[in-house]
Amino acid sequence: MPELPEVEILARHLQPLLCGKTIRGVDVRRAKILKPTPLPKFKDALLGAKFTGLARRGKYLLFELRSKTSGKPVTLLGHLGMTGRMFVAQKNEPLPKHAAVVFELGRQNFIYEDTRYFGRMTLDVSVVAKLGPEPLSDDFQPATFAQALKRSRQAIKTKLLDQSLVAGVGNIYASEALFRARISPRLSANRLTSAQIKKLWRGIRGVLAGAIAGGSTVPLNFTGGKSDGLFYFGRGPGTPDFYEERLRVYDRAGTPCNRCGFPIKRIVQAARSTFYCPHCQI
Ligand SMILES: [Zn+2]
Repeated sequence: MPELPEVEILARHLQPLLCGKTIRGVDVRRAKILKPTPLPKFKDALLGAKFTGLARRGKYLLFELRSKTSGKPVTLLGHLGMTGRMFVAQKNEPLPKHAAVVFELGRQNFIYEDTRYFGRMTLDVSVVAKLGPEPLSDDFQPATFAQALKRSRQAIKTKLLDQSLVAGVGNIYASEALFRARISPRLSANRLTSAQIKKLWRGIRGVLAGAIAGGSTVPLNFTGGKSDGLFYFGRGPGTPDFYEERLRVYDRAGTPCNRCGFPIKRIVQAARSTFYCPHCQI
C-alpha cells in the first residue's frame, strides 16, 4: 500500500507530464471511485480543463486544474487506495483491464487503474481538512506531537496510523520509524518519555525523507507493472539490488536485526502486521 514517500515520488513523476495538458475526453469506467462526486458533475468540471499544478498532502494527490466552462480553479483529489496506479501512456497503447478513469490528453492518456477500486478520483477534497501536519514540514513539531500522544492510550504503532496525528504515515513507515527510535510498537502512546517522543519525531522524518530520496534515484515502472513489494511501484530496468535493503524491519520476520542480530518479530496490532526487534525496541 502506497504511503507518503511513494505518493510524493508519483507526484514528482506526474507533474511535468501533466502540467499544461488539456483534458479532451473523460472516460469513467468505474463510477464508484468518483464518490461522492456525481458523474455528470465530474465530467462537466473536467472536460476541457487544463492541468496547472500537482501537489501532495498525506497520501493524497491534489491535481490543480483550470475549468474551461467557469475559468475557475478546480482541485481533483486522487488516492491510490490499496492497488491503484496513475500513469501517462501513449494513446495507441491498449488500456489496462482495470482502468477506472481515462483522461484523454491528445496523443496521450492519463490513466487511473485500480484492480480493487479502493482508491479515489474525486472533486470532494473534504478529507484533506481532517489531516494532521505534514511530517516533513515545519507544521510537524515535537511539542504538538507530544501533546497529541499524551491524550492516547493506543499502542504507539497503531496511533501512528491515525492520519489526524501526522499525515501520510502507514504500516510500513510506522514500523520503520519505531525501529529507528528504538521504541516498542506495543508501548502506549501516553507512556512515551519526552526523549522517546523526540527520537520518534526524528525517526519519522528520517525514514520518510530517506525513502523519498532513495525512490527518486532508482528507475521505477509506474505503468501498472507488477509491484516488487518493496517500493509499491514496479521495478524499472537497472534497479540496483541494494535497494531491497532499505527496509530494516518491515516484512523481515525471522531475519536477523541488522543492529543486534536478534530475529525480527511479526505481531498483529489492530488487524495490521507490525515488525520490530524485541531486543532493540523497548
Ligand atoms: Zn535488534
